Amino acid sequence: MLLDETTRAQLLPYLELLENPIFLKVDADESEQGKKIRDFVTELADLSPELSITEGKLSRTPAFSVEREGSEGILFSGLPLGHELTSLVLALVQVSGRPPRIDEQTIEKIRAIKEPMHFDTYVSLTCHNCPDVVQALNIMSLLNPNISHTMIEGGMFQEEVEAKGIMAVPAVFKNGKEFHSGRSSLEELVEKISGPETNNIFADKAPYDILVVGGGPAGVSAAIYAARKGIRTGLVAERFGGQPLETLGIENLIGTPYIEGTQLAQQLKEHLKKYPVDIMNLHRAVKLEKKELVELSLENGAVLKTKAIILATGAHWRDLGVPGEAEFKTKGVAYCPHCDGPLFAGKNIAVVGGGNSGIEAAIDLAGVVAHVTVLEFLPELKADKVLQERLARLKNVTVLTNVETKAIRGTDRVTGLDYQVRGQSDLTHLEVAGVFIQIGLVPNTDWLADTLELNSRGEIITDKAESTVLDGVFAAGDCTDSRYKQIIISMGSGATAALSAFDYLIRN
Ligand SMILES: Cc1cc2nc3c(=O)[nH]c(=O)nc-3n(C[C@H](O)[C@H](O)[C@H](O)COP(=O)(O)OP(=O)(O)OC[C@H]3O[C@@H](n4cnc5c(N)ncnc54)[C@H](O)[C@@H]3O)c2cc1C
Repeated sequence: MLLDETTRAQLLPYLELLENPIFLKVDADESEQGKKIRDFVTELADLSPELSITEGKLSRTPAFSVEREGSEGILFSGLPLGHELTSLVLALVQVSGRPPRIDEQTIEKIRAIKEPMHFDTYVSLTCHNCPDVVQALNIMSLLNPNISHTMIEGGMFQEEVEAKGIMAVPAVFKNGKEFHSGRSSLEELVEKISGPETNNIFADKAPYDILVVGGGPAGVSAAIYAARKGIRTGLVAERFGGQPLETLGIENLIGTPYIEGTQLAQQLKEHLKKYPVDIMNLHRAVKLEKKELVELSLENGAVLKTKAIILATGAHWRDLGVPGEAEFKTKGVAYCPHCDGPLFAGKNIAVVGGGNSGIEAAIDLAGVVAHVTVLEFLPELKADKVLQERLARLKNVTVLTNVETKAIRGTDRVTGLDYQVRGQSDLTHLEVAGVFIQIGLVPNTDWLADTLELNSRGEIITDKAESTVLDGVFAAGDCTDSRYKQIIISMGSGATAALSAFDYLIRN
């Protein structure tokens, strides 16, 4: 049985939401994959009278499509289980007639795409970054007949994945050519297809009372606190959601025992939208100037004016900065063990970094790959003791401490890395198919270095009120010199910054 009891129980309530009959069109050969797809569709169709099976030619074999009479279908080549179960549920519900919950502006942009385009998205079922991309392209194909989309399960078509050199998922191909790799929201994909918004739409924006830069926990908290004071509030974010988008599960947001990172990002957006905040997503701030008002320049050339500003730009994964790293990104150099681990099944891989994230990654990957080598620069691992103990119990892990990774080597994909024992001159080559880099985070503050006071780590120095050295400029969250970097702490500092900024407005 491909649909176990738990999955059936998860599916049933959603199948009751179907508004119209759905056809599951199957194009399956006698291959092992073809049989599995046919069995899956049969089990699925048995769950609801609204689902019926038809046979027919699809653009890919073996596959099945979710169709409504007279509409183009959404294709799945493989079994949309694991993290992709939600993609199947949404495809069924949306094809049956329930409109996707997206804003009008995005719908208009999707409908305006005239060029015919077909997308193939390769996923792994353990990848938590894949469903957003699959669901975004499914929505586009539903809204625009010029667009079609197929989800392809990498685990089922491993030879194809190898042949295409795919080493990171989601991997999206547009009309057969590599188009996108990694996590992305619907808005980001639409922008990538249609081009960025010009600065014209910013021309008439009146000055804000409080402008927030950053759409992570700190920025959203600051914007909500500001908007609740009834003042004109704006929020600019390069990528709404922030680091929670990279996080699998969060268990320490007090009052919420467990939430997935992407779900938290969604809830932050929904909460923010309850207030009249001008949200400008997918825009990068590049310059801050204090004139009569504070002026924030965006990458697209627009300049936003505000009486007070709260900087909540967070942090990003630290690069190793060695030859080969940039060249082999998505070709064996990886940052997300949950997403890309299954693509290295049965192979030898390395994890660079012996802190908590590195050791968590090594433990996770050891269950999937043949062998893991952990490389730590310092003489000892820095991860929590409990993680180190768990790692020590694993038979297929080697730990190298006091070593420096010097280069990542490969041809069209990673074949190994070179490292050096610190203090010695010889290079040792380690043959691996993948290198997972887990060496911490850097604050997103390089664009502020000439304007604000930063510490040696590049963090914005703030006081207890989250004020910076410039009047009217406040900062919150992971981009500051706060001692601990956590969601709840970022939210708290965002709230403090907003209250301090409001206090500043009253007094000035
Ligand atoms: C893998 C991982 C797991 C984690 N797990 C947990 C956990 O379980 N519990 C926990 O409490 N914490 C966890 N954390 C830490 C937590 O996610 C951060 O402390 C928190 O997200 C910081 O919030 P923030 O708003 O300060 O920054 P971020 O979340 O980094 O958000 C920054 C925002 O600023 C935007 N931005 C950046 N530069 C610019 C610019 N120039 N212009 C415009 N916008 C910009 C970004 O696009 C983003 O929207 C984890 C972090 C990672 C990476």
